[in-house]
Amino acid sequence: MAEANPAAPVVIVGAAMGGLRAAESLRRSGYTGAIRVVGEELHAPYNRPPLSKEVLATDVTHEAVAFPSRAEMGDVEWMLGVRATAVDLDAHTLTTDDGSVQEWRALVIATGLRARRLDFAPIAGRHVVRSLDDAMALRAELTEGARVVVVGSGFLGCELSATARKLGCSVTIVTPSAEPMMRPLGDLVAKEMRRRLTEEGVEIFSGVTVAAINGEASVESVELSDGRVLEADVVIESVGSHCNIEWLEGTNLDVSDGVLADNAMRAVTTDGIALDDVYVVGDIARFPNPMFDDVPRRVEHWNIPTDTGKRAGAVLAAHLADDGSFADVVAKPFAPVPSFWSNQFEIKLQAYGLLGLVSDDDIRVLEGDLSDQAAVGYYRDGRLVGVLGIGMKAALLPYRKQIAEGGA
Ligand SMILES: Cc1cc2nc3c(=O)[nH]c(=O)nc-3n(C[C@H](O)[C@H](O)[C@H](O)COP(=O)(O)OP(=O)(O)OC[C@H]3O[C@@H](n4cnc5c(N)ncnc54)[C@H](O)[C@@H]3O)c2cc1C
Repeated sequence: MAEANPAAPVVIVGAAMGGLRAAESLRRSGYTGAIRVVGEELHAPYNRPPLSKEVLATDVTHEAVAFPSRAEMGDVEWMLGVRATAVDLDAHTLTTDDGSVQEWRALVIATGLRARRLDFAPIAGRHVVRSLDDAMALRAELTEGARVVVVGSGFLGCELSATARKLGCSVTIVTPSAEPMMRPLGDLVAKEMRRRLTEEGVEIFSGVTVAAINGEASVESVELSDGRVLEADVVIESVGSHCNIEWLEGTNLDVSDGVLADNAMRAVTTDGIALDDVYVVGDIARFPNPMFDDVPRRVEHWNIPTDTGKRAGAVLAAHLADDGSFADVVAKPFAPVPSFWSNQFEIKLQAYGLLGLVSDDDIRVLEGDLSDQAAVGYYRDGRLVGVLGIGMKAALLPYRKQIAEGGA
């Protein structure tokens, strides 16, 4: 591999939370050289969770969700509205869709995910929610009385259903799952979530998929796999996501599910070599977390872009400083506790750890009452690996500590 030009900037691809946190961490870790952030969206980094919750119910503006700009970021260069199309890891260059080829000294991959869409012809009234622009477009159609079909019953689908319902829409969830949020929460909690969502007026059709979306100029109805037809004005597709890895085609990085990284967030090649000058952060990063085991996983929770961004920035700064500290920084333990929350109507869910690791038999109520407020434990081989609070937050902290300490 050719030597990188030390005068070239660190280039971060993806101008969202993960990219922002990596840049901040580089500065805080003492790197004073040039940083350039290349992002496809026109907006400066903003927070996505409100897009399915409060922002969608109130004012959908960039100001309402933008991350504050910190002092140490003053001299960072932002190339917004520009998409990376190719990278050459040997030549240390990045090609973008404005036709330019730029050199980098080190590269941070922070390109996250995009929403998956159902495979039907485009028509007005079909929506996904990943970006601020998506949320703005949907908000305009969530008017009182609108008939909304939400396809998919993960956290996002359920949150969007709750928000649409609160805005006065009639809402039906269509899902192949037996229960809403079944995969992450398990059967016990998912059944309770169905009860609560139904009580709030959300209809849930389980065990079905969408066979067709009908309409002339815009959506008029949704045909289900069991033959039923639902009249609809709006269809929200919340059916998972794709990793934004196309620009990495032709490299020897392991992109079999997101981009493989080691515990120092260095990108790993298909030969198993960790690259000291290429890092991966956020939703797209598949990395091992010794808190659980040595299996690399992608974790799409809000704290992960921050924790991996901080880690990548610190390790990369040590590499660039070339002051002998690199091996020690790489060897520092890195075991972030995954954490997420979800608000649906008055239901406040908060979780720590990896709930999806366990089977239904290993889920039990630790405190409280499922039909009211409760803390639910998720065990693997007798170890607590996850905890979910329904309406409980402070009570979860001892369990969080237990998970962080190895769950014994
Ligand atoms: C609507 C919504 C609600 C959520 N709610 C919650 C919640 O309640 N709790 C929780 O824990 N988590 C939640 N999440 C998840 C959380 O927001 C994500 O984990 C986080 O946003 C991931 O950040 P990221 O920077 O890794 O990736 P992303 O936010 O996906 O950002 C990647 C950026 O890279 C850009 N990009 C992609 N390809 C290219 C390219 N080739 N060139 C240049 N730029 C590119 C994209 O345009 C994007 O701006 C939610 C997510 C969404 C979408």
